[in-house]
Amino acid sequence: MAATVIDGKAFAAKVRERVKAHVTRLVEEHGVMPGLAVVLVGENPASEVYVRSKGKATREAGMKSVEHKLDAATSEADLLALIGELNRDETIHGILVQLPVPDHIDADKVLAAIDPAKDVDGFHISNVGLLGTGQKAMVPCTPLGCLMMLREELGSLSGMEAVVIGRSNIVGKPMAQLLLKDSCTVTIAHSRTRDLPGVVRRADIVVAAVGRPNMVTSEWIKPGATVIDVGINRIEKPEGGTRLVGDVDYEDVAKVAGAITPVPGGVGPMTIACLLANTVTACCRKLGLAEPE
Ligand code: NDP
Repeated sequence: MAATVIDGKAFAAKVRERVKAHVTRLVEEHGVMPGLAVVLVGENPASEVYVRSKGKATREAGMKSVEHKLDAATSEADLLALIGELNRDETIHGILVQLPVPDHIDADKVLAAIDPAKDVDGFHISNVGLLGTGQKAMVPCTPLGCLMMLREELGSLSGMEAVVIGRSNIVGKPMAQLLLKDSCTVTIAHSRTRDLPGVVRRADIVVAAVGRPNMVTSEWIKPGATVIDVGINRIEKPEGGTRLVGDVDYEDVAKVAGAITPVPGGVGPMTIACLLANTVTACCRKLGLAEPE
């Protein structure tokens, strides 16, 4: 039987509607408009696309959106000074520095400079620690979006075998923490994992966050498993031009999996929706108000 397609785009639209309704209440009942500042250093075309779509989504949700586009030669000190200003700015509730930053800037230092309460990407070491110890944290947007789709599809995740392929700080590790918090039995696989297909075949839930086009094939998948594809890879089409594919061979895996996210239209839209939700969460926490679900 063919897999259920998990429509991230449609789910993200629902999340964005909920966020927008929450923003309307914050503005009407409390006179506060959540604000998100996005900082981009240099001219990375992919980053520019992300920043533009984040700004657009923020405005569409009725929030304040501020974009700071800095020259590639901007010094680390100037970037840190801007972050200091945004930390102090009462109208800004979320700050996101688009990664990667140019080589002469220490990304860890930049992330550490963001007020953890405004760290809507959830990359500050305080938020990493809070998440790792099961406390209230700002949770990185991509894994949060994956978790929301898994809960929507499967209900309780308790007791399930989950395999996360990839151990990056922005996707793999926080994803594993979230699945553990939801009482899955979690394995984190990576480039040194022995018999990766055998490890993945154990999983009820597979999250692929690798960056290798179509790596995961149907032989790796336990029949009925739920497969979340985080990968975004641009490949050449035989007829010319390029297209986006995930880390999962979609057509092949869809024959065996119980449910699967497509690329594009799966994890990507949920990531942006979760960024908006995190900004509202940050705003509500600051004001001591109820947070969005
Ligand atoms: P990283 O490059 O930081 O991490 C990739 C991970 O994959 C590493 O842990 C690496 O292992 C592992 N890996 C590499 N090759 C193999 C292999 N052959 N077998 C098993 N594991 C392997 O990537 P990110 O986590 O930042 O991103 C992963 C993918 O997700 C990318 O395609 C990225 O574009 C996409 N992405 C999508 C987002 C979205 O919104 N949809 C958001 C963020 C990322 P090791 O540690 O051993 O090197």
